[in-house]
Amino acid sequence: IRQFNQPISQIASISNTLQLTAAATERVFAIIDEPEEVKDDVHALSVADHRQDVSREHVYVEGSVDFEGVNFGYNADKTIINHFSTHVNPGQKVAIVGPTGAGKSTIIKLLMRFYDVNSGAIKIDGINIQDFKRDELRKLFGIVLQDTWLFNGTIRENIRYGKLDATVAEVEQAARDAQVDHFIRTWPHAYDMVLNEETSNVSQGQKQLLTIARAILSDPKILILDEATSNVDTRTEVLIQKAMDKLMEGRTSFVIAHRLSTIRNADLILVMKDGDIIEQGTHDELLEQDGFYKGLYESQFDEAV
Ligand code: ADP
Repeated sequence: IRQFNQPISQIASISNTLQLTAAATERVFAIIDEPEEVKDDVHALSVADHRQDVSREHVYVEGSVDFEGVNFGYNADKTIINHFSTHVNPGQKVAIVGPTGAGKSTIIKLLMRFYDVNSGAIKIDGINIQDFKRDELRKLFGIVLQDTWLFNGTIRENIRYGKLDATVAEVEQAARDAQVDHFIRTWPHAYDMVLNEETSNVSQGQKQLLTIARAILSDPKILILDEATSNVDTRTEVLIQKAMDKLMEGRTSFVIAHRLSTIRNADLILVMKDGDIIEQGTHDELLEQDGFYKGLYESQFDEAV
């Protein structure tokens, strides 16, 4: 991913920020083999912003997620997710753990419907994700990845990208919630400082906080976080953790988790190995099972934050 992209004004032909976000996600997950855009069914559902806007074509989503007997393989000859079922209540935190290549991103790609399941179903609020319009489905998600995605523009524009019509006060509140407002105020021109390739006074950790501020502002129903531990100092790490906690508050969250504290506090841990979910439960339940998670926990996580 390129760190800096064209300012919004130069891509004015695309009016919907959230579609842009979805496009960025596709790049992030390096989707190369999605067939040319499939047309949505005429009865496909849209997402209502408010509970009172519900109609036959618009559903209001609380954020429960179900995987029901999901089978999936990238190739017809090799199933990797085998008959997986789980239930997640609105606002719960799900930690996905497992070694590289275990299938953690595959679960996210299926949930956001970058791929369709081979059999079984994924449902949000009891509705099969295939019944939503694709763009509408993706609007439900907020994504914070390791690679921050900032563009050539002011700090304010970069945060406001999460909600194009946000007021000055909303932008600054999001920055405060993301623990980055006090840094911004020390920068020359503060919120009006232009971020570009020459910007040298914004650290990697601060860029992550800006990305979190953007996500807080966009107020998604379902959050996807990639927590891969980054090269930031301990103090910034604490701020990132605080900002992430604020972001996850009250939202269904799927975290590709590396921090022991996140994993321990998760409502549900999905343990993945070789493309399949081999165990699921809370930290205590999984330790009791005395299986792969316990080994992973003892060998890998004990040095983590
Ligand atoms: P993780 O996120 O845990 O590192 P992934 O979900 O990326 O794991 O990968 C799970 C398995 O699926 C791996 O064996 C990987 O090689 C395979 N895989 C991932 N993406 C594709 C793809 N687009 N086509 C074929 N196989 C893939």
